[in-house]
Amino acid sequence: MSDCIFCKIIGGEIPSTKVYEDDKCLAFRDLDPKAPTHILVIPKEHIQSVDAVTLENSGVVAHIFTVIPGIMRELGITGGYRVITNIGADAGQTVPHLHFHVLGGKEMGWSPAG
Ligand code: AMP
Ligand code: ZN
Repeated sequence: MSDCIFCKIIGGEIPSTKVYEDDKCLAFRDLDPKAPTHILVIPKEHIQSVDAVTLENSGVVAHIFTVIPGIMRELGITGGYRVITNIGADAGQTVPHLHFHVLGGKEMGWSPAG
């Protein structure tokens, strides 16, 4: 998707603070962090949101969940963390490329970002 900012981050056209990368996904720090550690983990393949996950493309979602624990350990998060994904307008999704917010480094109340 040529006009997608996260595809541009994957392509290196927009800079990001990468914390993890492999052939299927990329993790980088959120520009506007809602916790001491706030990263976004995205598939390299453009998928709009969880709403567009299918049997055919769901492998990358499973993959992302296998890499998140190691990323958070590597970043020194030992007290737990939260994974959030927004889907569509009512949920406040502003970037239409599937992304998992991973937040940690503080105690969070039970509201979406604590
Ligand atoms: P959402 O509202 O769930 O779509 O989340 C989009 C997230 O992307 C927000 O938390 C933004 O702060 C973050 N964001 C937008 N542009 C960038 C960027 N260029 N680099 C890092 N994070 C970004
Ligand atoms: Zn994209």
